[in-house]
This record gives sequence, structure tokens and C-alpha cells, in this order.
Amino acid sequence: MDFILLGPPGAGKGTQAKLMIDKWSIPQISTGDILRAAVREGTSLGVEAKGFMDRGELVPDRVVIGIIAERLKEKDARKGFILDGFPRTIPQAEALGTILQDLGRNIDHVISIEVDEEELVRRLTGRRMCKNCGESFHVVFNPPAREGVCDRCKGELYQRDDDKEETIRQRLAVYGQQTEPLIAYYSRTGNLRRIDGFSSIEDIFSRIVEAVGG
Ligand code: AMP
Repeated sequence: MDFILLGPPGAGKGTQAKLMIDKWSIPQISTGDILRAAVREGTSLGVEAKGFMDRGELVPDRVVIGIIAERLKEKDARKGFILDGFPRTIPQAEALGTILQDLGRNIDHVISIEVDEEELVRRLTGRRMCKNCGESFHVVFNPPAREGVCDRCKGELYQRDDDKEETIRQRLAVYGQQTEPLIAYYSRTGNLRRIDGFSSIEDIFSRIVEAVGG
């Protein structure tokens, strides 16, 4: 079970990935999470990535391709994986193809979750994340029981720097220019599943399960 989750920021890739982990017991590999951890820890990777992330731009291909090449070799990815937020450009997709070929495997399903721009802005401006466990909430659509406190681990909730409206518009523009072409790219390989993401979390998940044949 090797999956790619494709879709604009705010489409719910991370949320669906969590449900997929539970169902198929395979790891979620999110380049955004890996980069945010590096920024938090102040590693050289974090220092290099931070400016791009704060501006809503993409981190250079060479950097994220290196991260994925290493991560996919780890033991927990042997049974399968869910790529969340990678690839985001055609060169990344091509590099992924080569990495997987070298490992003797290939992508089974590319799931594209599709949501229109105004809905994405509504979702992202209200998004709050837990500093401690990464769980995500929404001030209106999925509020925590106590404001500012994570339901799962009681950690402190915060708004990502790149979830401010101006940066969100920039991230969506970057998605349209650099990542959306991947829909056509993967439709040629025949394993693209397009899912309407304007629905409840549970509905979207059932559509994914159905699309991949259970
Ligand atoms: P995300 O959490 O997936 O929305 O990623 C947050 C930010 O991390 C993005 O806006 C980019 O700056 C950077 N990033 C994450 N994944 C990638 C990728 N595959 N290629 C380039 N930049 C990325």
C-alpha cells in the first residue's frame, strides 16, 4: 500500500492520513511535518527551509527529495506509506519515481482531494495546531473542548505562521502553478483517484477507502 495524498493546503490531507494510518497500519510521511520539526529544533535543514516556509514558497526540490530518499528507506515504510505533501512539483514526482524504482516498488494510488479556494481559505484561517502532538482543530468547524487546549494531549494550540490569510493566498497560488500539474502527470500513470473534498471527514474517508478498493 504505497499512497500519495495530493491536494491543496487545507484540503484535509493530514486529517485523512491519520485515518489511513489506523486502517492500514502504515506511516504518514509529511514533508511539512518533517520541515517544521527541523525549524523547531534549529537544525541546518530548518535554518535553510524557514524563510521559504514563512513566505509560503516551496523549499527547493533538492532538499525535500533528499529528505524523502532517506525516509523511504526506513524500516517502518517497508509495508507501505502515505506521502502527505510530497511530491509538490514535477521534478519531485520524477525523483520519487526513480527512488521507488531503486527500491523495487511503485505507487499504488494517488489520491487527489479537491476543494475550492474560498473554502480552503475559510478552513486554513481558522486552523489551530497542537504544539505538542500536531493534532489539528478549527475554531468553528472542529473546536477543542477548551479554547486553546488540545483535546488529545492537553498541549497548547497555536496558529501556524503560514496560516495567515496573505500567506495562505500565496500557498494556494504556488499550489496552482507547481503542484496542480501533478494531477495530469499521475492521470497518465492510471492510478489517480479524484475525490471531492467538500464534505465531512468521515465521508471523504469512506470515498478514499472505496476508491482504493477497501
Ligand atoms: P504543508 O504542511 O504540507 O502545508 O507544508 C508547509 C510548507 O513546507 C510548505 O508551504 C512549503 O514551504 C514546505 N514544504 C512541504 N512539503 C514540501 C515539498 N514537497 N516541496 C517543497 N516545499 C515543501
